[in-house]
Amino acid sequence: MKRLRTRKGFLVVISGPSGVGKSTVVRALIKENPDLRLSVSYSTRPPRPNEQNGADYHFVSEAEFSDKIKEGDFLEWAQVHGYCYGTPKKFIQEQLNKEQVVVLEVDVQGAAKVKDALAAGKLKCAVVFVFLIPPSVDILAFRLKKRKTEDEEVMNYRLRAAIAELQVMEKYDYIVVNDRVDSAASKIRAIINVEKERMLLN
Ligand code: ADP
Ligand code: 5GP
Repeated sequence: MKRLRTRKGFLVVISGPSGVGKSTVVRALIKENPDLRLSVSYSTRPPRPNEQNGADYHFVSEAEFSDKIKEGDFLEWAQVHGYCYGTPKKFIQEQLNKEQVVVLEVDVQGAAKVKDALAAGKLKCAVVFVFLIPPSVDILAFRLKKRKTEDEEVMNYRLRAAIAELQVMEKYDYIVVNDRVDSAASKIRAIINVEKERMLLN
């Protein structure tokens, strides 16, 4: 019988439309599962009242972000709703070297860029793509409104963008409905467990 061997760590890319609940669900997932490593992105967006530098994002100026692009520090970066967001390459590589499971939360452009990096051989590890969807478009609109972090005009723009972003879901390995935060986080944990087992076969 072929000897089973554990592969190195892998990446779990969690994406989905703006306001679907990515950061809420990912926060719950990490809190309940301290064995998972969260990749904290860099962002030029100003912090929201409840956000902490280094925990929610590394908040940086546009000049600092540009320097990081020049240094090649990002696995991927994108402009989302007027601000820049980037995934740190070094942290991910360090964690993968330690055979950890690393969770990334990115917008749909970011997920597509990770896929391109894989196809181009720039990223050499297993990656699982998870797409979070709302139970309905009405619920998505309600959640975006409830968050109250954007004014009406920005909120409407984000909602239109979010509906367009739902069209790419078939490109992902798994689709998870964000009905309740704890149940969505548990479904992602179950996916990670299945993928860990599946990797024993490769
Ligand atoms: P994203 O990171 O995808 O833009 P957020 O995590 O900021 O979305 O969530 C948007 C809003 O929806 C927040 O007010 C959050 O509290 C709320 N929310 C997220 N998931 C749920 C859920 N399962 N049930 C109810 N409200 C939710
Ligand atoms: P927010 O400003 O609401 O925190 O995030 C806006 C969007 O940027 C969300 O869809 C979030 O998933 C995405 N995002 C956060 N970090 C990154 C990143 O490093 N790269 C990309 N491409 N998107 C990110």
